[in-house]
Amino acid sequence: MTKTASHETFSDIREGVRALCARFPGDYWRDLDRERAYPTEFVRALTEAGYLAALIPEEYGGSGLPVSAAAAILEEVHASGGNGAACHAQMYTMGTILRHGSPEQKERYLPKIASGELRLQAFGVTEPTSGTDTLSLRTTARREGDHYVINGQKIWTSRAEHSDLMLLLARTTPREEVKKRTDGLSVFLVDMRLAVGTSMTIVPIRTIMNHATTQIFFDDLRVPADNLIGEEGNGFRYILSGMNTERILIAAECIGDAKWFIGKATDYAKERVLFDRPIGQNQGVQFPIARAYAQMRAAELMVHEATRRYEAGEDLGAEANMAKLLAADASWAAADMCVQTHGGFGFAEDYDIERKFRETRLYQVAPISTNLILSYLAEHVLGLPRSY
Ligand SMILES: Cc1cc2nc3c(=O)[nH]c(=O)nc-3n(C[C@H](O)[C@H](O)[C@H](O)COP(=O)(O)OP(=O)(O)OC[C@H]3O[C@@H](n4cnc5c(N)ncnc54)[C@H](O)[C@@H]3O)c2cc1C
Repeated sequence: MTKTASHETFSDIREGVRALCARFPGDYWRDLDRERAYPTEFVRALTEAGYLAALIPEEYGGSGLPVSAAAAILEEVHASGGNGAACHAQMYTMGTILRHGSPEQKERYLPKIASGELRLQAFGVTEPTSGTDTLSLRTTARREGDHYVINGQKIWTSRAEHSDLMLLLARTTPREEVKKRTDGLSVFLVDMRLAVGTSMTIVPIRTIMNHATTQIFFDDLRVPADNLIGEEGNGFRYILSGMNTERILIAAECIGDAKWFIGKATDYAKERVLFDRPIGQNQGVQFPIARAYAQMRAAELMVHEATRRYEAGEDLGAEANMAKLLAADASWAAADMCVQTHGGFGFAEDYDIERKFRETRLYQVAPISTNLILSYLAEHVLGLPRSY
């Protein structure tokens, strides 16, 4: 396939991920897509190779790598035609435990997450009635002795059926009783193995792509008070502190997708001969590919800038948001271009293009939708009035 990256960081890691992904080619993902099945073998291989523990410090059994290495791993998964959405959350949700958990919680969970003995794939924030407006969430956690009792509902809790643990955001103080509107929410590490089928019901949601997403109903779910992360009432801040990592990693996946689409389109444009010449000899076919390439490279620079700031300990809210916005736009534009370049074959299942097209569409909406990024930039960077 045509090489689309200009320069490579972490070339050893990238080569290792590419070799691993080569064991899971297009027909592996296609079969799963058809069945809406979870890529268990792929996730196991990624875990066993240590890639999912990239960000866990060495003292807890991980590799202690910087966020740019984790981004390289997920970019390569996507550039190889795979889909990191099956497991990417483990990389960033564990950061909440790492940054805000007690020493006991870190000792108890992180080594097992690093080894794969425990899967922390589920992240329960979004609810049906609150959506993007996280502070309006209604799931409650009420303290009763040495437990919290949880009631409510989450939606779009991805990978819940394939996870042992869930990081859950719930309200511990009623909204009308808090001093600041961001107070009163708390984060819990829920051991789902003990609760599924009794106080917790998981209902899968079938979506346009294979994503293992669900809605979850909590009915007097009892969580030990020991599983509260950090201080009660500060959960919203803890969740926010992980969002820059999430945005960078998802942006890296989008860059990988864009590279895959551009590589596919370039190869096809060279091979497909019509009117006695390759279609790629026509500027009408070349230019959209070249434009998608330029768009991807510009977005990639913003991802690099966001990771640089992250690793330098600098403020990166704007850059992490812009990286996610630009990379999601680049992957979506490249997806559209790739279908167009392939004509009718872009719609054929065997080419994997329609599958990747459906998969990459998600990133205009999740984990944060485009509009919310634009309103962040408008308000926090440009000083425009707050719109919501
Ligand atoms: C496949 C999938 C997997 C997901 N996985 C998870 C997960 O694992 N855990 C989790 O917690 N969540 C998850 N989500 C939820 C995801 O984060 C939300 O879908 C996303 O944040 C948007 O929220 P919403 O769907 O409720 O849309 P809404 O908040 O209802 O928004 C609808 C539309 O209105 C726009 N809008 C809303 N408010 C404004 C405003 N003030 N200004 C301008 N536009 C606005 C939005 O941009 C959007 O286009 C997932 C979603 C999907 C589809």
